[in-house]
Amino acid sequence: MQEHHIENVLFDAEQIGRRVSELVDDMAHQYQSQNLVMIAILRGSFMFFADLVREVNRHGVHPRIDFTTLSSYGSGTESSGKVTIGRDATVDVAGADVILIDDILDTGRTLSFASTHFLSRGAHSVHSCVLLDKPSRRVVPITADYVGFEVDDVFVVGYGLDFDSYYRELPYIAEVTFTGEAIT
Ligand code: 5GP
Ligand code: MG
Repeated sequence: MQEHHIENVLFDAEQIGRRVSELVDDMAHQYQSQNLVMIAILRGSFMFFADLVREVNRHGVHPRIDFTTLSSYGSGTESSGKVTIGRDATVDVAGADVILIDDILDTGRTLSFASTHFLSRGAHSVHSCVLLDKPSRRVVPITADYVGFEVDDVFVVGYGLDFDSYYRELPYIAEVTFTGEAIT
């Protein structure tokens, strides 16, 4: 693992909480669907998703909920470029209005793969909600329907996001500053 430190908090717990609740308000017209399915793209979105669906419940909405594990990253901080499915969602999405929840929209490969995947499984519509968006990093031209915060091209951790499986438990989102040489 590379030597690094975490000092710069970009979004604290309170800011995140407020934004999550705004996003859920913004998604209100999606709740008209009689067949709503919310799917978290794990693992980075687990905390965001848990907060989001509890807010959705406050709107009196009862979506079906499932999870899929997709990865495009190895253990480092650079995308490998190829998206692989670890675990697919098992819920039947045929005819459903799917909202995909992801942590970060970076190159766009993951979200674009996931949208295509659920449409090909017969979803009636696929929308997307991401906590963070790094527009400057886009390789595949895709935008999310709902975005929590835009961030510059920095590597962030916390609130579900990891660096080598560490820091997911942080209740805030912070920037990782890399210093010196690789230490492993
Ligand atoms: P994409 O397929 O859009 O390039 O990659 C999206 C995925 O890459 C995200 O779901 C996330 O798991 C990972 N990712 C992209 N940027 C960051 C970052 O700054 N920090 C962390 N921890 N993961 C990131
Ligand atoms: Mg992810």
